[in-house]
Amino acid sequence: MQYLSIKKEIDESISKVIESATFIGGKFVDNFENEFAKYCDSKFCVGVANCTDALEIAIESFNFDKGSEIIVPSNSFISSAEAITRSGHKVVFSDIKTSDYGICPESISKLITDKTSAIIVVHLYGIPVDIDKISAIAKKHKIKLIEDCAQAHGSTFNNKKVGSFGDIGVFSFYPGKTLGAFGDGGAIVTNNPDLYLKCKMIKNHGRIDKYNHLFEGRNSRLDTIQAAILSVKLKHLQKWIDRRKIIANCYLSSLKNINRIVLPVIDDAKNCSFHLFVIRTNYRDELKLFLESNSIETGIHYPIALNKLKAYDYLKQDCSNFKSNEIDSKLLSLPIGEHMSDDDMYYVIDKIKTFFNDFK
Ligand SMILES: *Cc1c(COP(=O)(O)O)cnc(C)c1O
Repeated sequence: MQYLSIKKEIDESISKVIESATFIGGKFVDNFENEFAKYCDSKFCVGVANCTDALEIAIESFNFDKGSEIIVPSNSFISSAEAITRSGHKVVFSDIKTSDYGICPESISKLITDKTSAIIVVHLYGIPVDIDKISAIAKKHKIKLIEDCAQAHGSTFNNKKVGSFGDIGVFSFYPGKTLGAFGDGGAIVTNNPDLYLKCKMIKNHGRIDKYNHLFEGRNSRLDTIQAAILSVKLKHLQKWIDRRKIIANCYLSSLKNINRIVLPVIDDAKNCSFHLFVIRTNYRDELKLFLESNSIETGIHYPIALNKLKAYDYLKQDCSNFKSNEIDSKLLSLPIGEHMSDDDMYYVIDKIKTFFNDFK
């Protein structure tokens, strides 16, 4: 278990927070913000309560006209879209690429209108999107670019960390993420000092001073104990990501000859931290059950494309030609993580091979 391998450091960091009796803000949060900004190749970081808040605060910081349109991929967790509506704007879904599951640049171009104010990209499963092409589209149309990096801590595009390409990048430290806290947590990163200040104020009741509020903001804090824990875990993150990459590469080479499986295809410019390792197969549900009966837990990210959710019926956007509609019934996330031994990994591969050998 990850905790046991760093128990002493974690326990000490928690004790230090308790002994300092600084439970809100303070140097532990400041330190983590500085460390995480540096880690993300970004100038600034604002700790917040979770990534859903981070998305909302990021959107609010631009002061878009009410009802402006924001483009978001159709295969993601609902937060990426929810934050748009919550901040008073209109969700416009874009299709994804079936090779690496990133938002499709061609699909984006067709959706831009004079009401479009921003694009939210999601580096889903840890695979960086085509950020060069998308940045060019954003620039050309003078719209903002927000990167949802909730699944992509440590992923890079042309050796630069995701989150540092757009106007703002957002991260989640939900326990199950690649860098996870012992509860909720999130962060906003940016290279823009004005956006940094705006986000910092929005999350802190719009104030510059204890009781001097320049506008109405909200409360969204990265908890001090969580920040202290995250500082410890950040030091170990690279080796955990390296382990994920070894497992992913082993899956890629061992499963490539099974023609009933579609593996992710990742361009050379993209260095993926493999938050998830997602395959596609027409026999998804059968394979999932078979693996479960062999004590292998798998996941589905996500079983229903966002555009098909009841929550988005009201949009009445015609997404019938989206590729995301066809793949959601085929996606399967294989086990991955630094906790997995070589034996665990070969066991998973072996069982998948057995399933497809027997499946005639
Ligand atoms: C987990 C996740 C979020 C939400 O993160 P929280 O910290 O739980 O609010 C947003 N976007 C994506 C892509 C996610 O995977």
